Amino acid sequence: MENKTTKELIECIAQTVISAASELTDLDQAIGDGDHGINMERGFRAVLAKIDSLGELAPGRAFADLGKTLIMTIGGASGPLYGKLFMSIGEALGDDPQITHERLLAGCDRAVAVLKALGKSDVGQKTMLDVLVPVIETLRVSKGGDVYGPLRAAARSAAEATIPMLATRGRASFLGERSKGHMDPGARSSELIIGAACRYLEAAPAAVLS
Ligand code: ADP
Ligand code: MG
Repeated sequence: MENKTTKELIECIAQTVISAASELTDLDQAIGDGDHGINMERGFRAVLAKIDSLGELAPGRAFADLGKTLIMTIGGASGPLYGKLFMSIGEALGDDPQITHERLLAGCDRAVAVLKALGKSDVGQKTMLDVLVPVIETLRVSKGGDVYGPLRAAARSAAEATIPMLATRGRASFLGERSKGHMDPGARSSELIIGAACRYLEAAPAAVLS
């Protein structure tokens, strides 16, 4: 992946999250404390502020730096979780300009293990993991051909599947049964991040996963 591609990919993710800040805040107002959009916007604005220096790094280094930036700028539960997610993926990709399917999957598996340990959480608890895990399973079985379409579809249906779930982690768990009937804000932001990455990579033939 060329440096320009890394830079544009990160820009696309950041702009998508920032544009959806009010939607994320609305979702968090329903079942949390209403700051998820503000948190994510703050984090990704900090990322955009250093986009030129990120664009000079290999993709793995850039993702790791992005993760650190999110940890330093986002408060709440989502900062360390998203921070560690990007850092784990970045570390697995390392210095190589080429992103392989194998290394990306290894990074995603590592990231999920780190998130589960950090959040003391697992799938089925109405969190971002309910989107990240099924998307990674889709990535595991899709190699060659259209990877991005199935990944986007998996993210969409997984985010929707959090609506009827009972939250048993994070602030939404304080609501008990009343947490049902709303999409988890972190599930939606994960869907947005995955959707933005797919949308960008789909249109950037130079960045095809090998
Ligand atoms: P806070 O909950 O501290 O206000 P945010 O509103 O920014 O932080 O993020 C909330 C999102 O973080 C939730 O919607 C959920 O997806 C995710 N989350 C919260 N706690 C956990 C956890 N223990 N494990 C995994 N994800 C979590
Ligand atoms: Mg919140």
